[in-house]
Amino acid sequence: MNRFVIAVTAAICAASAGWAGVTDEDIANDQTTVGDVVTNGMGRNLQRFSPLTTLNKENVKKLQPVWAFSLGGEKQRGQETQPLIYDGVMYITGSYSRMYAIDVHTGEELWQFDARLPEGILPCCDVINRGAALYGDNIYFGTLDARIVALNAKTGDVVWNKKIAEYKEGYSYTAAPMIVDGKVIVGNSGGEFGIVGTVYAFDAATGDIVWTRPTIEGHMGTLNGAESTMTGTLNATWPGDMWKTGGGATWLGGSYDAETDTIVFGAGNPAPWNSHLRNAGTPVEGNTGDNLYAASRIGIDPKTGEIKWHYQTTPREGWDYDGVNEVVAFTDKDGNKKFGTADRNGFFYVLNREDGKFLNAWPFVKDITWAKGIDENGRPIYNEENRPGDPTKSADGAKGEVVFASPSFLGGKNWMPMSYSQHTGLFYVPSNEWGMDIWNEPITYKKGAAYLGSGFTIKPNYEDHIGSLKAVDPSTGEWKWEYKNGAPLWGGVMSTAGGLVFFGTPEGKFMALDDETGAELWSFQTGSGIVGQPVTWEMDGEQYVSIVSGWGGAVPLWGGEVAKKVNYLNQGGMVWTFKLPKELASN
Ligand code: CA
Ligand code: CA
Repeated sequence: MNRFVIAVTAAICAASAGWAGVTDEDIANDQTTVGDVVTNGMGRNLQRFSPLTTLNKENVKKLQPVWAFSLGGEKQRGQETQPLIYDGVMYITGSYSRMYAIDVHTGEELWQFDARLPEGILPCCDVINRGAALYGDNIYFGTLDARIVALNAKTGDVVWNKKIAEYKEGYSYTAAPMIVDGKVIVGNSGGEFGIVGTVYAFDAATGDIVWTRPTIEGHMGTLNGAESTMTGTLNATWPGDMWKTGGGATWLGGSYDAETDTIVFGAGNPAPWNSHLRNAGTPVEGNTGDNLYAASRIGIDPKTGEIKWHYQTTPREGWDYDGVNEVVAFTDKDGNKKFGTADRNGFFYVLNREDGKFLNAWPFVKDITWAKGIDENGRPIYNEENRPGDPTKSADGAKGEVVFASPSFLGGKNWMPMSYSQHTGLFYVPSNEWGMDIWNEPITYKKGAAYLGSGFTIKPNYEDHIGSLKAVDPSTGEWKWEYKNGAPLWGGVMSTAGGLVFFGTPEGKFMALDDETGAELWSFQTGSGIVGQPVTWEMDGEQYVSIVSGWGGAVPLWGGEVAKKVNYLNQGGMVWTFKLPKELASN
């Protein structure tokens, strides 16, 4: 009893003495400081790996819920957020651009902020939000009308609220911002509306734009209010004026590699989807038609916004294989500094962290049709007959040849973040085994209207599973194990030094697997589908785990035959928090 009283007193002292504000050091060290989670990705390298070992393969079966919190509201939709934990408070974002501060000991709400969204927002893929960033006294998040908002983290009061881009043109924002050197780094969403992908750095204190970097060749960057440099070389890889509405939205937030001082963002598909409109052409001689830097990863200097390197996963992309998926810095078993990234196109790539150069690539899904493989220079070996046909070559000019392509445009892996375990040296990749019928149609650009020029129907590749969590060895590409799931996986993965891999399913199961074998060690039914991202932290000497449950996202909206297969799943909106009680930990 005495011990209990002391523990509670210590916790109260820690809470009241607490608020110093989140520092650059707190952010830089987030992965190793287990008492808080102040960044998206549990560290800006996005490894989603915790060094905590309190929970392990033996005792995880005793993990118990301690509180749950409802996001409320009649409009539920997908909950894709990652909780942040700081100074006794959990921060989560919710659908329709909402933010909540919750007492992490009790699960009671401290404050809630609802962004006032205008009529006519144009989110492509559900009204989701993927998380926030803490820095100083503020918490930052993006809204569906393409704004970035700074709130006082203690009170929820607005500190500043700035426009990223014009929502009427199709821009929105859903990713978690990232803090680097006092700047709030964000991208933009809206690639299906012919917008131009851009990475922005806002001054964290004032909300003023420090620099911008468009992701499509020909567009000018800015630095401190003046034009800086052009992205790429005009018309080197784009024909005519197509670059002006060239797509390449970043969709997801970036990662940051502190060792090379590089921000890494991915850029989405080139617009429109119909790749026959983006062939090699005039006016620059030697135009390759690759459509840079769409479907690429881009390394950016955090001080100036200049591009340091790029690597294009799918040149002249024609299947909506956005190049946006997260790039995770890791160090291999021989001490080499590398990046790992699992692309929508079904290949897992390993790049050199110093210069972004291609090192190797292997399939992480079973039935890739569009390419035979990746050559030694990192360029796909295309199956050109699997490129959806040119509508101008059809009899009536209205519809090009239909092809069945795999993976589907929702990707071998979509936005849902993977994890890299320093415990096993493996990546845990949430993937989906599905394909699509896809065809091209004529299209012209119209501001604020969908700019695809394609039609599609997604289909499952297997009867018994679509979702597939794989343990991928980044030195050989080998799959150590696979966990198959009926519905497509759409939530994040986390691994721990305790030998555990946490993730959730659309069927509502939150699970811990053995990191070496994939065996299921623990699960809990959360009541709605999980498309959120787990976190773990330590509080009062106990290890906690949280996940947000709430089915939605792009699959029910765009999933074709797969959407019909999973239309029985119920919506929701709950945070679930678990711990291993101290008295059970040693047994
Ligand atoms: Ca931390
Ligand atoms: Ca896209």
